[in-house]
Amino acid sequence: MSMKDKVAVITGAASGIGKGIAEAFVRAGAKVAVADLNAEAAAAAAKALDATGQRVIGVGMDVTSEAQVDAGMEKIAATLGGIDVLVSNAGVQIVAPLDDFDFAQWKKLLAVHLDGAFLCTRAALRHMYAQKRGGSIIYMGSVHSKEASVLKAPYVTAKHGLIGLAKVVAKEGAAHGVRANVICPGFVRTPLVEKQIPEQAKELGISEAAVIKNVMLKQTVDGEFTTIEDVAQATLFFASFESNALTGQSLVVSHGWFMQ
Ligand code: NAD
Repeated sequence: MSMKDKVAVITGAASGIGKGIAEAFVRAGAKVAVADLNAEAAAAAAKALDATGQRVIGVGMDVTSEAQVDAGMEKIAATLGGIDVLVSNAGVQIVAPLDDFDFAQWKKLLAVHLDGAFLCTRAALRHMYAQKRGGSIIYMGSVHSKEASVLKAPYVTAKHGLIGLAKVVAKEGAAHGVRANVICPGFVRTPLVEKQIPEQAKELGISEAAVIKNVMLKQTVDGEFTTIEDVAQATLFFASFESNALTGQSLVVSHGWFMQ
C-alpha cells in the first residue's frame, strides 16, 4: 500500500497506536506530522523516524484547543506541503462506575475524543477542500464504538459518537473527494491499556491476570491482544484506498471480539 509523498497528520502519535501508525506511514512513503499533547515526546518520535526533519515533524498540539489545532494544522500544511490524511487518534481512558463518575472527568474524556476529533476534522477539511486533491480522515474508534463495557460510560459514548461524525464527514466530504472511516480495535497493549489493568482489577475485585483473561480478551476467538501493527495496517488500508466506495464505514480489528 503506497502513501508516496502524501502528507498525514496523526494525533496522539507520540505513544502507542499513533506512534505505530506514524512508523507504518513513513515506511509506506508518506510525509508525517506526529502531533501530540506531549510536544517533547512528539519531537523525539519524529526525530527517530527522520533525523533530517524534512519528511517527519513533531508538533505539540492539544486537540481540545481550537487555537492550537488551527495553528498546528497551518504549520503542518506549510511545512510538509498540504494535508492529505488525518488520523484522529489522540485519546485517554478514565474508568469508574456511572453512579460515582466525576462530572469534570466525564467532560475531559468527551473533550479529548469528540471536541478533538471535531477540531482536527474541521481544520483538516479546510486544507483538503482548498487544495482540491481529496483526502482521507480516519478516526480511532474502538470495539467500544459498537459495544459497551462496565465502568467506561464516557469512553463508550465518545467512541459511538465518532461513527456518527465519520458518517457526516463522508456525506459532506464526498463532493470534495474526502473520505472518512473508523477503525475499531480490540484491546492493544499500549500505555493506555497497561494503566487500566490494575485499575479494573481494583474496581472489579479480581486479579490483574483475570482482568486480561476474563474481561479484556474473553470474547476474542483466540485469547490474543490485537497488535499496534494490526491497527496500523488497517489504517494504511483506509488511507490508501482511493475511491468513495469505502467511506462512512467502520472496521472492527479485534481477534473476533464483536462480529457484525
Ligand atoms: P496511548 O496512551 O499510548 O497514546 C495516546 C496518546 O494521545 C498519548 O501520546 C497522549 O499524549 C496523546 N493525547 C492525550 N490527550 C491528548 C490531547 N488532548 N491532545 C493531543 N494528544 C493527546 O494510547 P493508545 O492505546 O495508543 O490509544 C490511541 C487511541 O486508540 C485512543 O483514541 C484510544 O481510545 C484508541 N484505542 C486504544 C485501544 C487499546 O486497547 N489500546 C483500543 C481501542 C482504541
